[in-house]
Amino acid sequence: MTALLLGALGLTLSLLVPGWLARARWTARAPGAAVVLWQAVTLAGILCALGVALAGPQELVHELGSGRPVGSAALIVALAVASLIIVRLLVSLVRVTLRSRARRARHRMLVDLLDSADEHAELPAELRVLDGPLPFAYCVPGRSPRVVLSGSALKVLDERQVGAVIAHEQAHLRQRHELVMESFTAFYRAVPRPLRSRVPLEAVHLLLEMVADDAARGHSGSAALRSALEVLGDAVSPAAPEDLSGSAAAERARRLERLTGADNRSVVVEACAGALAAGLLVLPTVILVVPWLGRALMAWPL
Ligand SMILES: [Zn+2]
Repeated sequence: MTALLLGALGLTLSLLVPGWLARARWTARAPGAAVVLWQAVTLAGILCALGVALAGPQELVHELGSGRPVGSAALIVALAVASLIIVRLLVSLVRVTLRSRARRARHRMLVDLLDSADEHAELPAELRVLDGPLPFAYCVPGRSPRVVLSGSALKVLDERQVGAVIAHEQAHLRQRHELVMESFTAFYRAVPRPLRSRVPLEAVHLLLEMVADDAARGHSGSAALRSALEVLGDAVSPAAPEDLSGSAAAERARRLERLTGADNRSVVVEACAGALAAGLLVLPTVILVVPWLGRALMAWPL
């Protein structure tokens, strides 16, 4: 019964919930809480898979009423499958982390080489300016981070807009958004190919952009950021597709237009999303622990 319950919960979390969460409109009101909820959904899905792997074979043996050797074999199968899931996730995480670090180190070296920020002494020290006809902005995270702007962006944006764009990129760096994306990428790669879905990756990416937007509008105001997004959104460099690009930029600009100052409803939405995330993480554990506790109490000699 435990394995069945966990299996049903795991399938719901991996097949139904991502689509619902990606389409939900409230997430734009509390993007940080929505990212936490995505993390909880993913983690709870992993816990369910582990629970099914651990409880399933034993329960099957119990239902069939087989003897002790079959029970031991079922336990070995359960542990082997659970270990395989954990090892696959860890290997994927290590691979994604190493590859991202190497790529970022190369990228950092390149932007340092091509930098022409000396001509813009008023800008922050970690800023690098690349010459080129297209206006774009992005960041290279890591221990020695960089914010990269094109010379063209500095020409088409005014001082407040440049401040807003830099604040947005600095929020990505300060809040280590790359680590969140790396964990979702690692999970995506660990899932067998036919079952993979890019929905969580894309949804979390957009939500992290909104989180950085909220930090930037606190710094420079909504109007400056929104107009900067409108200028940069349609003319972004192919070298910086992760940021400030195309329809996502338009969606973010529309969101900034909707949001006004302090929004009390966001606090309520954040609290609900937080409670839901905590509940999701607790549920697989409860489904596993409650039957075990029941059996333990039944076996109690008194
Ligand atoms: Zn961004």
